[in-house]
Amino acid sequence: MKCKVLVMIIVIAVCSSNATISNDEKIERDIKALITSMNSSDSIISLLKLIEWESDLIYQIPCIPPTFVYHQLRVSSHYGRRVHPIHGNVKHHNGIDLPLSHGDTVVVSADGKVTSQGYDRRLGNFVKVRHICGFETVYGHLSKILVVTGEVVKISKPIGLCGSTGDSTGPHVHYGIKKNGVFINPLDYCELLFEMQK
Ligand SMILES: [Zn+2]
Repeated sequence: MKCKVLVMIIVIAVCSSNATISNDEKIERDIKALITSMNSSDSIISLLKLIEWESDLIYQIPCIPPTFVYHQLRVSSHYGRRVHPIHGNVKHHNGIDLPLSHGDTVVVSADGKVTSQGYDRRLGNFVKVRHICGFETVYGHLSKILVVTGEVVKISKPIGLCGSTGDSTGPHVHYGIKKNGVFINPLDYCELLFEMQK
């Protein structure tokens, strides 16, 4: 009799712990679906702050600048319409340019999977990484590529070295973010991790 009671207690304990896990998983799935459907960075940041989610979800969303060299981090060319530094015409700049020294390490801004890498006439040596919730990041003008297509990468992993390949007037990394296939301003996400830790 005592043994039966013990077995029942264990079964109830296992069932209830399973229920908790699947509940957490369901909540995480719902949050990811919600973030996927959102396109405004303000809404996404507000949601993340509101839920104070304690999983590693934040590391799966672009949330840091693509470099360790924070002390000299500045934007030499912003997202949006600009006069192209080489072609001289007004064009939409679909990312931000961060001047670094030649050979400085460029890191991935969130967990993800490398979808392509190679050489493009404009972007030079580039890496593209897909993340959850419809995010994709692009890193251009690299002097060297350190990852291969299909590689799974963790946030802050070195993916290349800064260079000046392609349409470029000096060593810098061109950093772009796409959300659901559309380029957005990466600057909104460069300090997201810092914002969340405040
Ligand atoms: Zn650029």
